[in-house]
Amino acid sequence: MKPLQELTRPNIWTLAPYSSARNEYAGKAAHVFLDANENPYNTPLNRYPDPLQEELKKELSQLKGVPAECIFLGNGSDEAIDLPYRCFCRPGKDNVVAIEPTYGMYRVCADINDIEYRPVLLDENFQMNAEKLLNACNTHTKIIWLCSPNNPTGNNLDRNEMLKVINQFQGIVVVDEAYCDFSRQKPIRLELEKHPNVIILNTMSKAWGCAAIRLGMAFASKEIIALFNKVKYPYNVNLLTQQKALEMLKDRYDIEKWVNILLLERTRLMEAFRLLPICKEVFPSDANFFLARMTDAQAIYEYLVDKGIIIRNRTHIQLCKDCLRITIGTRGENSELMAALRQYN
Ligand SMILES: *Cc1c(COP(=O)(O)O)cnc(C)c1O
Repeated sequence: MKPLQELTRPNIWTLAPYSSARNEYAGKAAHVFLDANENPYNTPLNRYPDPLQEELKKELSQLKGVPAECIFLGNGSDEAIDLPYRCFCRPGKDNVVAIEPTYGMYRVCADINDIEYRPVLLDENFQMNAEKLLNACNTHTKIIWLCSPNNPTGNNLDRNEMLKVINQFQGIVVVDEAYCDFSRQKPIRLELEKHPNVIILNTMSKAWGCAAIRLGMAFASKEIIALFNKVKYPYNVNLLTQQKALEMLKDRYDIEKWVNILLLERTRLMEAFRLLPICKEVFPSDANFFLARMTDAQAIYEYLVDKGIIIRNRTHIQLCKDCLRITIGTRGENSELMAALRQYN
């Protein structure tokens, strides 16, 4: 890996971040807070939240096996996807390389930040090739984007190929592990200390059932996390989100139970799809969704919308001609989908 300073935009490296009232006061017991121009009356949301979400990070540190100082929390993964561009990529000069097809936000954030986006096609099994990705890089390539299990294809990327990229690339490698709770693959997150150039993304939006609270996570070296903390909005994760996330972590709800049921339902749904005359191929999945190639994705999509059933039409994505992406729902929802598809002609 190149020195972090060399990878970082010069204006970000030298940036003096905004210093909030709650940043400057740290630690010592206090009971009179006249520092932040807040309303003193308990609404009970009158106080600014912890800008660094320390209590939540402490809990997540246990769960994820990553030191708290190596965790960044953001307004969904979206924020953690945008920040690497803002920290490392000089608009109009630098570029990033990514597998294709993959999650659409990597490209949208590149476009917003005026960063060249270089997609590298996966093979017909939606598998990556490390050499192909590395060959797409030049001296201005700051980031390589990987996603495992990948969206919209559902499969794990080959772990050895990912590690080849991580070990050989001199810049930053982001590995989006949003669906790791559903996967049998050992997360790269657990080997983070071996890889100072890696940023791992996780989210509360999928297995944890909290898409509405908008909580995304990035795990990386404490130096990279310090850069993110410098650039992020001072109070980027609101108090209600921090409280709800803590509640989910402490009560543990039924996450593992949900995951197990969803995996059984995934097997059932994929087998049912294979028997449909209108289904040509069902692709392997390690996530809570799967991709299927149909006879006519557009027509089937519209037919289902008409019945009030919404799935994702991926036919216009590269390598995904006539493919539909189906999220695993409750048993009842999945059965309703199958009943509708069996009546299609
Ligand atoms: C759903 C998803 C996310 C989650 O995004 P949030 O902003 O945290 O809701 C991240 N990455 C991938 C690949 C996803 O499919």
